[in-house]
Amino acid sequence: MVTVEARATRILQGTPVVPGVVAGPVLRVVDEVSEEAVARYGDGGLADEDAALAAYDASVLEVADGFARKAAAAHGAAAEVLAASAGLTRDKGLRVAVAKALGQGSDVVTAVRAAVEQFVSVFTGMGGLMAERATDLRDIERRLVAHLVGEPEPGVPTPSVPSVLLAADLAPSDTAGLDPALVLAIVTERGGPTSHTAIIARQLGIPCVVGCRGALEVAAGAFVVVDGEGGRVELGVDEQAAADRVEASRVAREALAAWRGPAQTADGTPVKLLANVADGTTAESAAGEPVQGVGLFRTELCFLDRRDEPDAEEQAAIYAEVLRPYADGRHVVVRTLDAGSDKPIAFATHEGEENPALGVRGLRLSFDNPGLMDHQLDGIQLAAESTGTETWVMAPMVATVAEAADFAAKVRPRGLKPGVMVEIPSAALLAYRMLEVVDFLSIGTNDLTQYAMAADRMATDLAHLTDPWQPAVLQLIAITAEAGRNARKPVGVCGEAAADPLLAVCLVGMGVTSLSMAARAVRPVGAQLARVHMETCEHAAEVALAASDPMAARQAVRDLLAEA
Ligand code: PEP
Ligand code: MG
Repeated sequence: MVTVEARATRILQGTPVVPGVVAGPVLRVVDEVSEEAVARYGDGGLADEDAALAAYDASVLEVADGFARKAAAAHGAAAEVLAASAGLTRDKGLRVAVAKALGQGSDVVTAVRAAVEQFVSVFTGMGGLMAERATDLRDIERRLVAHLVGEPEPGVPTPSVPSVLLAADLAPSDTAGLDPALVLAIVTERGGPTSHTAIIARQLGIPCVVGCRGALEVAAGAFVVVDGEGGRVELGVDEQAAADRVEASRVAREALAAWRGPAQTADGTPVKLLANVADGTTAESAAGEPVQGVGLFRTELCFLDRRDEPDAEEQAAIYAEVLRPYADGRHVVVRTLDAGSDKPIAFATHEGEENPALGVRGLRLSFDNPGLMDHQLDGIQLAAESTGTETWVMAPMVATVAEAADFAAKVRPRGLKPGVMVEIPSAALLAYRMLEVVDFLSIGTNDLTQYAMAADRMATDLAHLTDPWQPAVLQLIAITAEAGRNARKPVGVCGEAAADPLLAVCLVGMGVTSLSMAARAVRPVGAQLARVHMETCEHAAEVALAASDPMAARQAVRDLLAEA
């Protein structure tokens, strides 16, 4: 929606992701190499096949080095993905295919494209994780061609001055190496609050607006104000007025950064703030933040590149790295493998499902392969015993009370505390009965939203539906939290919704007892909760639940907090 204000300010409205007001020039992320540049380049004026192969080798060197530099700056799964891309760029088989095409008379750009096409069809035919590499190969192809024809590499350019990054959407390889000192804000035309862009922006603490229609029409270099709380991109704003707003936001954000915890409302109701982690490295760095433990350890992210299932001892060593930093009296919630759908794991995922998001994923993988769950629980038990850390275990994708009871029966004898994730609406509706068989619930709002709204969480065109502020999603959360209050058992939120300071107020008002998020998001949430009384939280929950749509819900809560 584009609106025109009195001072000819143009406002583009999107979905707010990370709060903060910033202003600066727009830097556009280029998706494709321009075909005019490719046509201009033609055969590159290269004397012969050898010269063409040398040009190819030179561009391979540049592209692979670029990936390796980004890998060095990233960590965890992102670093592994980038290092794998560097290796794939240097692949000898790919070079042989390029040389063959050159030998048949192709120019170098056509040869690169033909060789990549050949590999893509081989990988796609193999299915599963290998098919995923097809996307990486296409990314590599665009970068190689860009170097050959002398265009900037598609993806995020390195800003020379602090800039507002503007893109259709961002891929993992785009976001892994972002420098928060040079990227003032991220604005995407597509994507919703659970998109990859949103997750990375939260991790880096960069103000962010997604799903911002019309954003791609903004010219490179244009001066814009980005309001990450209101979800607005403003053009034509007076630079002095913008500077004042930016300064006020900076001061407010600095105050947030000074928040030390432990979290409680202004009148002293405690709320546990916890970290979402993926491996030992992220667990270690989160332990230094004001968190009371880990609320979601996504174990499947440790095995993205594994072809075979690790045995219990090997798993125990990996989990112990995550548990150890919290042996100081804090607790860690370990989630059992959530393989399948958007997180394919070679040794677990079922191949060729028609509809993987509704297929055999998460807990369901153990139905015909109980060993998978048993070995993992053995590994978690060993790690808990060796580190002495208080360890809770929860299963993802639980649909029935019987599944929850079976899971609890496996977890309790191992001296671990059993819980389940509430990601499927059936689990929310029967939360009170789930709590008769398990000790805690953790609401995964990313999937709960996807399943409640029947909207693929990755579908950028459905961003208005994949929004946890949707009243129907809020209603399911409220039912679950209410069940927790009645049973006097903890109910947390560990989806991306927990990282939204405004929504956090509502969640606490509904009775949610813990919020788990990227460690970078903890301070703004803690500082926001410290400013409101429990009564206001409860009122905020009511107005959000009563709103007709997500934007109205946000505005109603913002208005309420401004009055309080
Ligand atoms: C969720 O669904 O909200 C969740 C936390 O799990 P994941 O994002 O890993 O699917
Ligand atoms: Mg989930």
